[in-house]
Amino acid sequence: MNRRDFLKVAGSGALIASSSGTAEARGNLEPPPEAVGMLYDSTLCIGCKACVVKCKDVNDMPAVTDEHNPQWDQATELSADTLNIIKAYTDGSAETKNAETDGFAFIKRNCMHCVDAGCVSVCPVQAMKKDPKTGIVSHDPDVCIGCRYCVAACPYNIPKYEYDDAFGQIQKCQLCNQKGVERIDNGQLPGCVEVCPTGANIFGTRDELLAEAKRRVAMKPGEENTFPLGTVGSPHGHVAPAADYQPHVFGEHEGGGTQVMVVSGVPHTELGLPDLPDRSYAAVSETVQHSIYSNMLAPAGLLAGLLYFARRNTQEEGQDKDKEEQS
Ligand code: SF4
Ligand code: SF4
Ligand code: SF4
Repeated sequence: MNRRDFLKVAGSGALIASSSGTAEARGNLEPPPEAVGMLYDSTLCIGCKACVVKCKDVNDMPAVTDEHNPQWDQATELSADTLNIIKAYTDGSAETKNAETDGFAFIKRNCMHCVDAGCVSVCPVQAMKKDPKTGIVSHDPDVCIGCRYCVAACPYNIPKYEYDDAFGQIQKCQLCNQKGVERIDNGQLPGCVEVCPTGANIFGTRDELLAEAKRRVAMKPGEENTFPLGTVGSPHGHVAPAADYQPHVFGEHEGGGTQVMVVSGVPHTELGLPDLPDRSYAAVSETVQHSIYSNMLAPAGLLAGLLYFARRNTQEEGQDKDKEEQS
């Protein structure tokens, strides 16, 4: 191939690249209209851990014990045996509940059931799925290949792998609605919500939970209010003075939004919740991937052109040789 031909091919490759353009940025996914979730109110939580015990019971998970204390569950972190944990925040003298300075507070950690979930986006075999109706993020162990991409992709460090099992699986909260449990489909509350004695953890649609969360953060500190038990519209509840809430509903926008939301008296970052941008990780990573694949059209076009000219030159050389032999 001569220099002119080469430049022609290179030019056609660039044309393909410019006509393909850069892949469009993908926005955050929206929650399904009937998305369900939970609202955790740190100011109402008394740290009793009834939810931790019930979660283990519902999901048939063993207690985490050690040789010094074999009769009690010792779990302090989420693991493949613990899908829900209550942690404590303390500062200074730790005297005042829900105060950032010299105070203490509780935080419940479990899957946030992200609206645009990173774990779902990266799973190569769709073992991690988001239910199109409820928005619940569930895991199918029969499909999972154990690659652990979901572990790396979760901004909340939630999915846990069973490293001590040769055929280990991923474990995480599935909002009590996985195969063999199906509490939501059967009209029951999630286990952790059912046993919460103070209404610190309630179940409902994302829309009604968000409205309830906003009602709470707008309350005047010390003013008496009714806090429902179980669900937002429950006739059962208790009257209590409102805490001094942070003016923020965690999960309304963070990382593209979540279906498990948190309100608190202490800033969410002090409670160990990450400070995430509004754009979901899934939207960012899928945009980057699509851009890479789309821009690969240019080198692919260039390669196709080079192969065409190389083949044509070889054919021409062959024909010249034939002519020489005949003459
Ligand atoms: S470990 Fe399983 S669920 Fe997680 S990304 Fe890999 S295949 Fe999907
Ligand atoms: S919190 Fe993590 S595991 Fe749960 S849905 Fe979001 S990305 Fe997936
Ligand atoms: S919804 Fe079910 S699995 Fe999730 S934390 Fe609550 S009890 Fe555990």
